[in-house]
Amino acid sequence: MRRWNGWGEATTVVELPAQGAGFLAERLGVGRVLPDATLEEALARVPASRLAAHGLYSIEPHDRLLHARGQSLPDWLALREGAPGLYPDAVAFPDSAGQIRQLLALAQTQDLCLIPYGGGTSVAGHINPPDSVRPVVTVSLARMNRLLDLDEHSLLATFGPGASGPQVESQLRARGYTLGHFPQSWELSTLGGWVASRSSGQQSLRYGRIEQLFAGGTLETFAGPLEIATFPASAAGPDLREVVLGCEGRFGIISQVKVRISALPADERFYGVFLPDWSQALQAIRQLAQARVPLSMLRLSNALETETQLALAGHPQQIAWLEKYLALRGAGVGKCMLTFGVTGNRRQNALSLSQARQHLKAFGGVFTGTLLGKKWAQNRFRFPYLRENLWNAGYVVDTLETATDWSNVDNLLERIEQSLRAALAAQGEQVHVFTHLSHVYGEGSSIYTTYVFRPAADYPATLARWQALKHAASQTIVDNGGTISHQHGVGKDHAAYLLREKGALAIDTLQALSRHFDPAGRLNPGTLLQE
Ligand SMILES: Cc1cc2nc3c(=O)[nH]c(=O)nc-3n(C[C@H](O)[C@H](O)[C@H](O)COP(=O)(O)OP(=O)(O)OC[C@H]3O[C@@H](n4cnc5c(N)ncnc54)[C@H](O)[C@@H]3O)c2cc1C
Repeated sequence: MRRWNGWGEATTVVELPAQGAGFLAERLGVGRVLPDATLEEALARVPASRLAAHGLYSIEPHDRLLHARGQSLPDWLALREGAPGLYPDAVAFPDSAGQIRQLLALAQTQDLCLIPYGGGTSVAGHINPPDSVRPVVTVSLARMNRLLDLDEHSLLATFGPGASGPQVESQLRARGYTLGHFPQSWELSTLGGWVASRSSGQQSLRYGRIEQLFAGGTLETFAGPLEIATFPASAAGPDLREVVLGCEGRFGIISQVKVRISALPADERFYGVFLPDWSQALQAIRQLAQARVPLSMLRLSNALETETQLALAGHPQQIAWLEKYLALRGAGVGKCMLTFGVTGNRRQNALSLSQARQHLKAFGGVFTGTLLGKKWAQNRFRFPYLRENLWNAGYVVDTLETATDWSNVDNLLERIEQSLRAALAAQGEQVHVFTHLSHVYGEGSSIYTTYVFRPAADYPATLARWQALKHAASQTIVDNGGTISHQHGVGKDHAAYLLREKGALAIDTLQALSRHFDPAGRLNPGTLLQE
């Protein structure tokens, strides 16, 4: 069963090792534990719905609570307190495009707002109900999760939009294929959500981001269905897939998604390498990306993330042994951990591995084989579960991300980290901040920063701490040549920063598209574009 107030399956627990807890206590002080509300307490706070019961949706408090928030830190705090504040008046679970159209029609006759909802894994406030005089219906696509068509000649698969990562992969794997899209939220996020929020998977180096995988489909809008045919390529004017990608439920509800798939790879391996310092590591991976060495994933942790990961890994004796070995080989204090993968057939993979090893060696890279790579692969979807036990130990963790050109990566990364470290200084609070680069391109890279801090004395004050941190980092990003999001999207949390990034004409253009598809502004108001 899915946790109602946290991440993932309730039965999956990732422990915080004693060494990890000690490491955080040294940096941040002893943790502060805030009391959690029970499910019963949270349910008792759900107000009466403004809608009467209807065959197309549920007005049950349980459904409304479970669809009230996503997975951002403010969402986490609201759910832990048992007080999301705003709730959808109803939750619909359509099982066909026909039912989605009925819901659009009902929204017009009953003056409703609709919020398309995939897996609810948004970390930017995308699916939180607006404070609206109109009743709000959240439209969960969970029942539309099937593989509808497989064109094996063209390697195209058509899915319902609500297929989660495991549902996409299990239906494709049974036929010998993969989509290859593995965001860290893979267990719960959905194909429609990935498209609507321009998601990026951990192996985007091989398979591409969702933009490259999304071939076409249907968007149900108030102006009628927008059908996007698939072509291998087309010069027939602007590509309307770009209207659907990143629309964040503002222009319509995606009812069908066609994706480009691949045959399952014969061979896949992940490896660990330690580089002696950040400046050499950065140069090494930039050149690796620009040389187009065919790797399937690459993740470079800065020195503090490397140190933190080793501390949180548990197994202190093995880690001490590894550190001794690395120091002897020239990767001591300041070392940076790189994980990379090769995916394909054995011959290609052997060649890619040897190219990568040779290249990294020239930068002082110490190759440690597959052990750390295997651990990364085993735990790739488990890290978010650690948030639970960090919270129980009295610490809050959040992440933020951006992308910029190589010439600005180091500068922007440093500024983001500094802005976070300084944001709670007036309160005398330390913030533990570390970063990795995990999506690299010829021209630049994503920057993914994690920050850990202590809750304040109560929930509102803790939220205020987060707001100070988030604002400091977001303003730093847009003021210093970064995009407000490389992969998490805009939602409500980033909407205020979009104008600075895109400019007034671009925002007007997006507003015009929204009015075109949704003249009365019923779809997900406040997300992507501020009201
Ligand atoms: C622990 C964790 C790890 C994460 N890791 C990654 C990562 O590695 N890469 C990454 O890209 N993101 C990541 N995310 C963010 C999140 O998972 C992505 O934004 C994901 O694409 C959201 O998918 P979803 O199905 O949960 O959509 P939701 O959260 O339900 O919705 C997101 C947006 O899409 C819209 N939407 C959803 N379905 C439809 C539809 N059918 N039609 C129209 N609009 C729709 C919603 O209205 C909303 O605006 C992570 C989140 C968490 C909590």
